[in-house]
Amino acid sequence: MPDKKVLIIGGGVAGLSAAIELAKLDVKVVLIEKEKTVGGYARQFTCKATDECVKCGACIVEGKIDEAVSHPNITICAGVCLTEIVQHDRFVISFIDRNNEKQACEVDAVVMATGFQPFDPINKPFGYKRFDDVITNLDLEKRLHQERAVKRPSDGSVPGKIAFIQCVGSRDSSLNHLWCSKVCCGSSLRMAKLIKSREESTEISFFYIDVQTFGKDFQYHYDLIRDQVRMIRAIPGDIFLTADRKLKLEYYLPAERKQIEELFDLVVLSVGITPNRNADPIAEKIGLKSTGSGFLDEQSMVSVPGVFTVGTARGPKSIAESVADAGRVALDVLNYFKAQHN
Ligand SMILES: Cc1cc2nc3c(=O)[nH]c(=O)nc-3n(C[C@H](O)[C@H](O)[C@H](O)COP(=O)(O)OP(=O)(O)OC[C@H]3O[C@@H](n4cnc5c(N)ncnc54)[C@H](O)[C@@H]3O)c2cc1C
Ligand code: SF4
Ligand code: SF4
Repeated sequence: MPDKKVLIIGGGVAGLSAAIELAKLDVKVVLIEKEKTVGGYARQFTCKATDECVKCGACIVEGKIDEAVSHPNITICAGVCLTEIVQHDRFVISFIDRNNEKQACEVDAVVMATGFQPFDPINKPFGYKRFDDVITNLDLEKRLHQERAVKRPSDGSVPGKIAFIQCVGSRDSSLNHLWCSKVCCGSSLRMAKLIKSREESTEISFFYIDVQTFGKDFQYHYDLIRDQVRMIRAIPGDIFLTADRKLKLEYYLPAERKQIEELFDLVVLSVGITPNRNADPIAEKIGLKSTGSGFLDEQSMVSVPGVFTVGTARGPKSIAESVADAGRVALDVLNYFKAQHN
């Protein structure tokens, strides 16, 4: 359909993959990205391979970037700010480009690929931003990328004992975040395995509600790692800093009816996927109304003809699932064009 043009808002792995799928169907695509580079969160992740690939999916995104950048049907505009989007016969889009110049274009359909926001644990009782040695899983990704052995941010020493706390900001009724983020168990356990492979003496404890083993081959990797970490089915309540700058975790073991206090050198909060609230003004401009969790899932939205959503904008997904979702949305867009034609 060479006479059709689609706007994709967001150049993460979902937006890039949707652009590629549509371009292959001979549809023209304009992809706009607010950051200076495309790739989204997936581009920040480190390769977690040890002696073998652990199928974390992080390397998928570079291939998608190369494919999208070189496809003649795709125009990528990065570092832009969308200012207006109005629906007449077609959608009229206005944006400010990276040279601060106003641009406009008309398209036949819009795909929201605006992604997610990681949960901000600042208001949780875990001391994030109060204690230097409490970090998030995203902070840990960056550290593992930059340095071979993980170090304590406070004094640069190699931690002897690390605690991972799972489900921070997910499956939390006090926040009305009832969903499982699906990716943080796999991501944290893979990082634990990587830490152990680099520094075998590090003792790792994994505090969890239950372990989600979504994803291709993850059960195999989970079976390998769970013998190397202490799996503790409990979520600590509070964290305190001791006089010798250790982190004291308090947790309750229901099976043993025991309240435990234990010292750690580094605590990693596994924050998950929450709706990208920054996309709400755009959704509002095109008449999309969220009726549920805040994710832009068509099933829980007042939907608009010609407007589609893809990737984690719709709800928690891994990189591989976001890529698969792009195939689905490309077909939905194509069917919409065909129905208009008839
Ligand atoms: C802690 C953590 C660890 C994870 N680990 C893994 C893992 O190991 N393996 C795995 O498969 N998945 C993992 N994930 C999930 C993975 O990050 C997502 O599957 C993937 O990033 C989804 O891509 P996306 O394009 O939907 O969203 P994003 O990566 O959020 O991309 C969205 C893009 O849209 C852009 N955008 C947003 N709003 C606008 C706007 N208004 N205008 C223009 N552009 C806009 C953003 O700048 C961004 O580039 C993890 C997630 C978290 C939180
Ligand atoms: S899937 Fe992950 S672990 Fe495997 S090679 Fe790619 S980035 Fe590395
Ligand atoms: S994937 Fe694991 S850590 Fe993340 S929300 Fe689900 S159960 Fe909790």
